[in-house]
Amino acid sequence: MEDIKTTMDLTGFIAKIGLEIHVQLKTKSKMFCSCDNNAENTAPNTLVCPVCLGMPGTLPVTNKQAVEMTIKTGLAFGCQIPLESKFDRKHYFYPDLPKGFQISQYDKPFCLGGEIEVGGRKIRLNRIHLEEDAGKLTHLSRGRTETSLADKNYSLVDLNRAGTPLMEIVTEPDISTPAEARKFLEESQLSLRYLNVSDADMEKGHLRCDANISVESKVEQMSPIVEIKNLNSHKFVEQALSFEEKRLIDDFKNWPEKRTKITRGFDAKKGVTFEQRHKEEASDYRYFPEPDIPPITISEGQISEFKKEIVELPKEKKARYIMAGVSDDVAEKIVKSPYLVEYLESGENLQKELAVFISEEVNRAISDHEISFKEYKNRVPIARVSELLNFVKDGIVSKTAARKVFVEMVRTGLSATAIIKGKGLEQISDTAELLSTVNEVVKENPDLVEKFKNGKTQVVGFLVGQIMRKTSGKANPQVLNKLLIEKLNGNNYQNN
Ligand code: ZN
Ligand code: MN
Repeated sequence: MEDIKTTMDLTGFIAKIGLEIHVQLKTKSKMFCSCDNNAENTAPNTLVCPVCLGMPGTLPVTNKQAVEMTIKTGLAFGCQIPLESKFDRKHYFYPDLPKGFQISQYDKPFCLGGEIEVGGRKIRLNRIHLEEDAGKLTHLSRGRTETSLADKNYSLVDLNRAGTPLMEIVTEPDISTPAEARKFLEESQLSLRYLNVSDADMEKGHLRCDANISVESKVEQMSPIVEIKNLNSHKFVEQALSFEEKRLIDDFKNWPEKRTKITRGFDAKKGVTFEQRHKEEASDYRYFPEPDIPPITISEGQISEFKKEIVELPKEKKARYIMAGVSDDVAEKIVKSPYLVEYLESGENLQKELAVFISEEVNRAISDHEISFKEYKNRVPIARVSELLNFVKDGIVSKTAARKVFVEMVRTGLSATAIIKGKGLEQISDTAELLSTVNEVVKENPDLVEKFKNGKTQVVGFLVGQIMRKTSGKANPQVLNKLLIEKLNGNNYQNN
């Protein structure tokens, strides 16, 4: 009995996890100036101007495209769009923030509420707001050989990223396990790609996640809320949260009387979280309305125009594929690759066989031939795959031959018809033509025919194999089987 009680105590904790996801929007220019927003492969501090360098006397001009992307994302996730929003200054001091404040949104963000469904569970959103990114710091060490008296450690700042539009999605603490947090992140990442608002590549920092976790015991005791900063992969989000969940439960005895908020970092190499500074309260940031940008208003009419432009999200798309008869697995596989979706939907109508074929063959073709998806699509327009599959359906080529034909289609860019004709891959469905081979094989194997007569029907398989070999695998299996059985029974009958 003692054991059971202990187990119950240990499992009597519920985790509450909320995420803050920062998304770099792929607008043409930065959030408040006309600098190029694509900083990939650029020399440090080359995409800068007085506005994003934070020079005194400069004025920010709001990027309309960024606002539209934020509102469209909000609409796609079922958020409410308030008719009036505003920007605020959020103050903190750090070398990557030249102005000494970040323009963000405090109490009037562009989007409120909303939800994202993950594995059948609805995770509520608190808000989606828009802000500007800071610059990038690179911390370096001069190492032991340096003889200079200067600091051994130093940092470099690159402001190309300063002022990039950053959309922040904030959830309610509705996520209950680290694995679910990871799934949530994967689902939102895919949706953001569908919405075409971000490349959402975590490795490149387009998508960055802060994870908040607290645990509650069944006797209503509450742990501190721990925010784990700057998680840059799905795996790290899950690992960091799992570590922290366990740490909080183990530390159960030391939970404070009054709930507090702390910030911890994550050491990906060791897989552990570590203590950092205490979390600022909102008052530490001294938020106040950005005086250089008037409040932004939007009309009901504009909102309904935006609604018309919202694309189908992965979840809805998958449901539609399943309705069309595609299996869950195949639908899932296609929906996860936006380019497979694009390819499948470039066809006239959604066919189940086509979906299966694409999910199995396209990725392999692309990697086997070392070509880009674009190149693949040029060589093999989807209509040609449909044509090939129709040939299989009509018995013109076998399934096995169809795979060979497809490989040739990718290699040469020729149509299925041309390849089948050129290589003589048509199935032999002509009865007269097949019958001569059937007769030949039957004549060559009197012993097997004898066995068949004695009820050993398994010999049919061997005979079919022989006929297939003689026709180089081109015999139409249905026609062949029918002819062979007729022939064997016929012989049987004659002999009686
Ligand atoms: Zn600029
Ligand atoms: Mn933020």
